Amino acid sequence: MSSTINFGIDLGTTNSLIGKYTNGQVEVFRNPSGMKETLPSVVAFRKERILVGDKAKEYLERDANNVFGGFKRKMGTDENYFVPNIEETKSPISFSSIVLQELKNFVYTGEVPESVVITIPASFNTIQSNATKEAGYLAGFKEVVLLQEPIAASLAFANKLKEEEIVGNRLVYDLGGGTFDVAIVKIDHEELKVVDHEGDNFLGGMDFDQLIVTKIIVPYLESQFQINDLIPKMQSASGIYNKLYYKLLYKAEEAKIMLSSKESVEIEFEFEDQKDESHEIIFTIHRHQFEDIIKEKIIYSIEFIKNLLERNQLSSKDINEVVLVGGSTYIPFIRNLIQEQLEINVNCSVDPTTAVVIGAAYYAGSKTKQLPTNVEENSKIKTVSPSVENLKVKMAYQKNSREKEEYFTAIIENTKPGMTYRILRDDGGYDSGTKPLKERISEMLILLPHTLNLFILKIYNSQQQQIAVEIPEIAIVQGNFSIYGQPLPDDICLEVDDVENTTTKLELIFEKNAILPIKKTITKTLSRSISKSSEEQLLINILEGSRYAAPTSNLSIGMIAIRGRDLHTNLIKGSDIELCIEISESRDIIVIAYINMIDQEFKQVFSPSARSVNVTRLKEEIDYLSRTTNKQLDIMIKKDQFEEAAVLKRITEDLRNIQMDLSQISEDDTTDMKYQIDDKKRKLATLIDKGTGDERLIMLKEDYYQMKSHCFHFVENEGFESHRLRFDNIVANESDWINDKGGKNFIKRKTEELNKLSWEIKRRNLNYVIYVYTHYALKSEEEYSNPERFKMLKERGDQALQRKNIDEILSLVSQMHELLIDKGKDEHMKGTGLS
Ligand code: ADP
Ligand code: MG
Repeated sequence: MSSTINFGIDLGTTNSLIGKYTNGQVEVFRNPSGMKETLPSVVAFRKERILVGDKAKEYLERDANNVFGGFKRKMGTDENYFVPNIEETKSPISFSSIVLQELKNFVYTGEVPESVVITIPASFNTIQSNATKEAGYLAGFKEVVLLQEPIAASLAFANKLKEEEIVGNRLVYDLGGGTFDVAIVKIDHEELKVVDHEGDNFLGGMDFDQLIVTKIIVPYLESQFQINDLIPKMQSASGIYNKLYYKLLYKAEEAKIMLSSKESVEIEFEFEDQKDESHEIIFTIHRHQFEDIIKEKIIYSIEFIKNLLERNQLSSKDINEVVLVGGSTYIPFIRNLIQEQLEINVNCSVDPTTAVVIGAAYYAGSKTKQLPTNVEENSKIKTVSPSVENLKVKMAYQKNSREKEEYFTAIIENTKPGMTYRILRDDGGYDSGTKPLKERISEMLILLPHTLNLFILKIYNSQQQQIAVEIPEIAIVQGNFSIYGQPLPDDICLEVDDVENTTTKLELIFEKNAILPIKKTITKTLSRSISKSSEEQLLINILEGSRYAAPTSNLSIGMIAIRGRDLHTNLIKGSDIELCIEISESRDIIVIAYINMIDQEFKQVFSPSARSVNVTRLKEEIDYLSRTTNKQLDIMIKKDQFEEAAVLKRITEDLRNIQMDLSQISEDDTTDMKYQIDDKKRKLATLIDKGTGDERLIMLKEDYYQMKSHCFHFVENEGFESHRLRFDNIVANESDWINDKGGKNFIKRKTEELNKLSWEIKRRNLNYVIYVYTHYALKSEEEYSNPERFKMLKERGDQALQRKNIDEILSLVSQMHELLIDKGKDEHMKGTGLS
C-alpha cells in the first residue's frame, strides 16, 4: 500500500525547519533543546564534537574559524571548507547533511522519516538542486523530492484562503538572511503555478546586521576613541578586533529584531581601546537610524520587482497582493515601503519564518512515496482465476482534489462479455458495487477530507472470480492544491557549431520557466565526418544558462562524447542524428542520441550532483579563449586602453595557469581537478565577456549596422516583396536588443540572418557571382592545399561561366573555398560536430 511522504524541510541559508502533514494540518516541530522551531543553519566543530544550530552560533564568538554558516550559497560548487579543529576538508553538501540530520531529531513522535520534501530556491540550477538531493541522501533519507521555495510559500498561503479569494496572481517576496527571491504565482481553483521569478543571492538580513555595525557602531567607536580604520581591523581574520566583530554582528542582529517591534533599542558591550583599557559601552539605536541605512537595499529590491512585472507585461493592478516570506520581512519599514511603492496590498497572514516549511509539508502530504514498501506482498492480487490475455486498464483522474468527490474514468481494452468490476476505498467507507465492465467506465469517488484516499479497482470474470491483472491503486489526496509542475530556472541549450565553424553557439531546447518534467526530440546534422576507430569525437553538450550567452560561460549539465572508436561504421558529414532530451521533475537528465545511418543508439542518464567535463574539449575551449583574449589584448594596447588591458592581462595569465594544470591530467582522471578547472574557465570566460564587453558590443553593433545597410540596398534594388518582409522581421524591435550587453550572441545571429538574406538576393545576380568567382579563381595555386584539383575546378568554372550557369559556378566557388589553406584558421575551434 502506498502512503504520502508527509515530511517537509525548509533547508534555509540562515534557518532550517522541519514539519509534518497529518490530515489537513501541518505541525512544525520544535528543537527539543530550547523549543524553537528554527534551527540556525550553522555547524561548528569542537575537537571532540560537532555543534549544530544555536549552540554552533554561540561558538562563533569563541572560535570563529571552526564555525560555518551560509554554505547553502556554495551548494553545487567545488568550494570546500577546511576545518582546523579536525584537520579535514568538508563540502557544503556535508554541512547541509549535518543540519538535515539534526532536524530529524526534532521529530518527537519517534518516527524516522525515510522520504522527505526539501525546498530549494527557484533559481537553483540543476547542479545545485542535485547537490541538495545528495545532502538528503547523505543524511539518511531514502527518497528526496525537491520543491521550489516560492511554490512552498504559496501553498502555505493558498491553503489559508477562503474559497472566493483564491483565484488571482500573487507576488511572493522572500527576504531571508542571505538571499532575496521574488516570484509571480498564479493560483486558480485547483492549481498553482510559478509564472516567473528572479533572485539575488547576495541580499538579506545579514547585510542589515553588517550595516548596523559598520554604519552606526563603528563610526561611534572611531570618534569616541580616536581610532582609524576600525573596519579592516574587525573584518580581517588576523585583525585585533576580529572577535569583537562577530560579537557585534550578533548584538546587531538582536537589536535589529527588537527594532521590528520597538522604536529604539540599547546595545551593550565591552570595548578595549588601543591602550588595552576596558570600557562599558551602552548605545542606543533608533528605528529611523536603522531605516535610513537599509533604505537603499529595499528600494533596490522593489526595483527588482518592477522589472519582473514589466518583463511579464503585468502592472500592479494585475497582482492581488504581496505575500511576505522570510525573517527579514518582519521589519515594518519593508512592509510599508513595498505597499507604498508598488501600490499592492501586503498580506501578512502567513508567518514569514514558517511559510516555506508549512508549504513543503502540504506538498509532502500530497505526494505518494515512491519507495518500495514491505507490505507490497499483501496488496498483490490473489490469483483466483487464470489471467486474461491482453486485458489492459488505462486510468485517468486528478491526483489532488479540493472537492468532496472526484471523477474517475478508465478505458479497458479487450474486455469479454460477462465481466464485472468494483471499486473499493481501502478503509471500507466507499463501495461502487459490482457493475458490468464496459470499454469505458466512470465513477464519482467519495473522498475523505484532508487525507490520502486509496481505492482499488477489481475486475471479475463471468464466474465472479477476480482476474489477475496489474492495476495500480487509485491514489487521490483531498484538500490540496495541485502544483502545475516546477519551472526551469534557466534556459537549457544544446551546443552546436557556428555556421562558419569558427566557434560554437547555443541552440535553445527548453526555455526558462518551462514546466518539469519535460521532453523533446530534435534532429541535427553532422557537420563533419568521423571515421570509425579514430580519435575524433562528436559532442552532445547540454548546457544550462542564458541562451544568449557564449557556450563557455554556461554550465554543462550533461555531455555525451561519441568517439570514432565507439562507432560500428564511419559517420558521414550531413547525416542526421536524432537527440531526445528529457529532464525529470527531480532534475535528472536523460540524453539519447540515435544515429539513423548506422542504427546506433547512445544513452546516458546524468544523475545527482555529478558534473560532466570532457578534458579534450576543455583543453580546446581554454586554448580558444586564450587565443582570442591575447588578440583582444593586442588591440587594447594599440588603442592605449591600458586600464582595461591590465585586467585582460591578468586573465590571460590565469588562463595560462589553468592550461598548465589541465595538461597534467588525463581524460579519465578521477579527481575533481577537471571540475575545478571547468569552474575557473567559466568564471574567466564571464570576466572576458565583461572585460571586453563594451568593446565587443561596439564591434558587433558596427558589423550589424553595416550588414543592415548592405542588405537593405539589395532588398530595395533587387529583392522581392518576400525578401522585404524577411528583412523587416529580422530588424523588428531593434531598439530593444541592440544595446543589450547580455545579448551579444543575439546581435551576432541577427547579423548572420541579414548576411544570409543578402546572399540569397545576390546569388541571383550573375555579375555578382562572377565577381565572387574571379576572387577565388585569381588566387595563386600555392594558396590551395591541392593545386591540381584547384586547376581542374578552375577549368570547369571557366566553362560554366560561358554557359552562365549560376548554380554550378557557386558550387565550384564553395569547393575552392574548402581547398584554401588559410581560411583564417587560427580563429577556429574544433567544435561539437553538430550543426
Ligand atoms: P533563510 O531563508 O535565509 O534561512 P529566514 O527566513 O529564517 O532565513 O530569515 C532569517 C533572517 O531574518 C535573519 O537575518 C534574521 O535576523 C531576520 N529576522 C528574523 N526575525 C526578524 C525580525 N523580527 N525582524 C527583523 N529581522 C528578523
Ligand atoms: Mg528561506
